[in-house]
Amino acid sequence: MKKISIVMISFILLILLSISACSNKNTDLVLIQETEHGLFYSPSSGEDEKEVVKILAESFELNYPRITNMFKYENNNKVVIHVYADKEEFVEMIGRETEGTYVSKENIIKVYTPPHLIGGIQEEYSFQLIHEFVHAVIQQINPSVAGVKWLDEGIAEYASKQLDEGIKSRSTFNDYPTLEQLESGSVYFDEAGSTAYLYSGILIQYIVDEYGIDALNNIIRTPNNIEVIMNASTETIYERWVKYLEGKEWLR
Ligand SMILES: [Zn+2]
Repeated sequence: MKKISIVMISFILLILLSISACSNKNTDLVLIQETEHGLFYSPSSGEDEKEVVKILAESFELNYPRITNMFKYENNNKVVIHVYADKEEFVEMIGRETEGTYVSKENIIKVYTPPHLIGGIQEEYSFQLIHEFVHAVIQQINPSVAGVKWLDEGIAEYASKQLDEGIKSRSTFNDYPTLEQLESGSVYFDEAGSTAYLYSGILIQYIVDEYGIDALNNIIRTPNNIEVIMNASTETIYERWVKYLEGKEWLR
């Protein structure tokens, strides 16, 4: 009898512990700012964090209607965003070298943003938050998008408008990936880095330019139907994209 009650108590304690762990995922962070659509948390509420969050929050609200309309996404819950102004602390918490991520199992966007955002870097880090927000939107619409790297990263690059900057800063576009590379997912992204993001973004731009935003929305919802949606085989879609790439004004 005694044994059973000890087991029971341990079991109840374990449940209580896990419940509090789930509901307290923001407790070690401080709410810095609440906006119409977002809740911005940070490990500390110093002037640096307040200043950075103010800039990010403004950019987030500015882009929110554009992104949610683009993907026909509706959600009444506010988006939870964790902002770190200390790079070392951020990398240690994430466990890998990165400046931003969307953690789908927690539904939280986590970004590192350096304090004192002046000049061009203000735009760069605002873009980064919007990039992660796009991941949050499309992965909530369909979690399986996360498994198709070119689609997931390409859309984030395209919709955040980082792609426009990437195209502007390049003069040649002849190092585009093979179909096999695109289909290899992380393998290609690991070896090509920012180039992989750029070309995935251009592939999304091609889909929107040639087939429209509704086609892209259908692909997000049913990625396996891409050949039906675009009425062509994967090989043909790839060949047409290469032609599009070569014919673009900005390539010259
Ligand atoms: Zn990304």
